[in-house]
Amino acid sequence: MPSEAELHSRDVAEDSREKTWKGTSFIKELFLGNYRMDLMHDFPLDEPDRPEFLEWFAKFKAFLIEHVDPVEIDRTGEYPQHVVDGLRELGAFGIKIPKEYGGLGLTHPEYVRVMQLLGSYDCNVTALLSAHQAIGVPQPVKLFGTEELKQEYLPRCAKGAISAFALTEPAVGSDPARLETIATISEDGEHYLLDGAKLWCTNGTLAELLVVMARNPETGRINAFVVETEWPGVKIESRCRFMGLKALGNAVVSFDKVKVPKGNLIGGEGMGLKIALVTLNTGRLTLPAGTSGGIKLCLEICRKWSNARVQWGVPVGKHEAIAHKLADMAAATFALESTAMLLGDLADREGVDIRLEAAAAKEWNTTQAWHFVDEALQIRGGRGYETELSLRERGEAPLGIERMMRDSRINLIFEGSSEIMHLFMAREAVDKHLSVAGPLVDHRATIGDKIKALPRIAMFYAWWYPTRWLGWGRWPRYGEFGKLAGHVRFADRASRKLARTVFHGMAIYQAKLERKQMFLFRAVDIAMELFVLSAVVARAAKMKRIGHPGAESAQELADLFARNARRNVSRWFHEMWSNDDELKHKIGKQILAGRHVWLESGTMGVPYSEEQLRPPTVSEILEQRAKGLPAPSVEAPAQPEAQPEPAAV
Ligand SMILES: Cc1cc2nc3c(=O)[nH]c(=O)nc-3n(C[C@H](O)[C@H](O)[C@H](O)COP(=O)(O)OP(=O)(O)OC[C@H]3O[C@@H](n4cnc5c(N)ncnc54)[C@H](O)[C@@H]3O)c2cc1C
Repeated sequence: MPSEAELHSRDVAEDSREKTWKGTSFIKELFLGNYRMDLMHDFPLDEPDRPEFLEWFAKFKAFLIEHVDPVEIDRTGEYPQHVVDGLRELGAFGIKIPKEYGGLGLTHPEYVRVMQLLGSYDCNVTALLSAHQAIGVPQPVKLFGTEELKQEYLPRCAKGAISAFALTEPAVGSDPARLETIATISEDGEHYLLDGAKLWCTNGTLAELLVVMARNPETGRINAFVVETEWPGVKIESRCRFMGLKALGNAVVSFDKVKVPKGNLIGGEGMGLKIALVTLNTGRLTLPAGTSGGIKLCLEICRKWSNARVQWGVPVGKHEAIAHKLADMAAATFALESTAMLLGDLADREGVDIRLEAAAAKEWNTTQAWHFVDEALQIRGGRGYETELSLRERGEAPLGIERMMRDSRINLIFEGSSEIMHLFMAREAVDKHLSVAGPLVDHRATIGDKIKALPRIAMFYAWWYPTRWLGWGRWPRYGEFGKLAGHVRFADRASRKLARTVFHGMAIYQAKLERKQMFLFRAVDIAMELFVLSAVVARAAKMKRIGHPGAESAQELADLFARNARRNVSRWFHEMWSNDDELKHKIGKQILAGRHVWLESGTMGVPYSEEQLRPPTVSEILEQRAKGLPAPSVEAPAQPEAQPEPAAV
């Protein structure tokens, strides 16, 4: 049985979930066993070619070449002022802001192209622009703000008033429903008074404007506000530094009775968490695009290097192990780009809901990109591990795989960690089943609720379940995909199998299903892989149809990609029922309980207790503040803690 705290977090998250679908979703349908290849069929292949965009894009690229030195930005850990000013002059802080509010008003496919280019060059600048306009003030104000808020803030943002998104708190990361920063309505009812602290606010040190999520203590509900960093009581407490993204202006920001005008509430009372989640859902275009740019660059580096570097008498690329890596990298690059392009197009299409596709693209692309940066590093050997500055000093080409690796690791954590992306998609995977058979799997449903739901359940599944066995996913269907048709047929059959398997899981595990993360995560992995496979095949087919010069090469890469994907899908289906999940879960819990602690002896040990590792809550920070004391902090111990004694086994 879940704890009260777990149930509360889940209830609040559920309450803030977008429950209605704005349109069709390929992945939602896939989970239900409806394979909608028709949604992908006319793959968006056209390069953005509006003359106005091309002119701006050329200027932007020239600016990067002339004025942005990624190695220097990484070395100094700062954005040079001339870079920030130059980006402002180019209007780069208003890429996604509509023209009527002073922005460039680029389309999503155009935005994808810009972020792909940046992602191949400088991830620090990518993060600066993305945190500002994909999740910072422009996005929630554009989506939910009143006309007054739009008039006041969008033109400022477009001119380069940098903004940031403040949701995370020291004790609240993946579970924002528990956030504790508070916004109390003032006595005269004209203001909110904001108190609390936010952690890891990207652009926080540079920002004029913040979107802050805070709880109204009277209603317990979460609100979202536009807050100006100049206002009294807003303080940058410290700047956070990371493994990569060295120049990120990331900060701990505190709020001490900050007077926020009522008009700066975005989207109405209690809408804050929903706004945060929707902003993230629709803001997830940057990472798929940026990672596809990064891996395209890795491919070029690896192709050139694998030809140039001769070991054991032949170019290293001719050794089978490296040739395999190159082949997989090229196939995955085609897939990463296909996913980013498709998502950009879907974001601008009417009648389509992209929340699942955006999550899948974010999760799939960032995970693959991390893997292939690692492969690129391996192909470059020792030079992959060497910094650009060191390579340059020795007179060799300064290729930045090492920097790319440091910069790309965070992609699996921010804007929704890999685990949270899986949970989010898993929730949607079972959405239809919950809406029909919810009482059967709800801990809190009474026997009466369950009995009452039975006729509805019987009626739905009497039709739905048998039809998940029917349907033709074999020859001659999908003949228009030529040599790739077999892969589409596989995806068609697999989507029905996925729907059946999720249903079987629900029938077997019932209320325990929500705790069967690995079962659900594999279902999500299968759905993501089928989504990407379909995008890849649709793109290759379209290239062939229009006689694209790369069409033949694309067919080969799509074929290789689909073969790999099918193998993964088959493995995950198998592992859904044949696995060591129970054993691993048991041992994981034993580790928490200290059973295997003997294994940790023989090192210098971690000199902090578990209690010391627990980050302070905002309530604790506010309590200290009320006493006039600084926020709680962990003192470094003088001596390492004694090594653990072997526990009784
Ligand atoms: C460089 C950087 C920039 C950032 N920028 C911003 C920003 O601009 N604005 C902002 O608000 N936040 C920002 N963040 C915060 C970021 O979004 C969080 O790090 C992220 O949400 C994860 O939270 P956490 O780090 O507290 O991990 P935790 O929530 O503590 O999770 C720890 C681990 O447990 C996993 N986990 C948690 N819950 C579950 C679960 N239910 N099931 C399975 N696994 C689970 C997580 O995936 C993770 O692997 C930034 C963070 C970094 C490092």
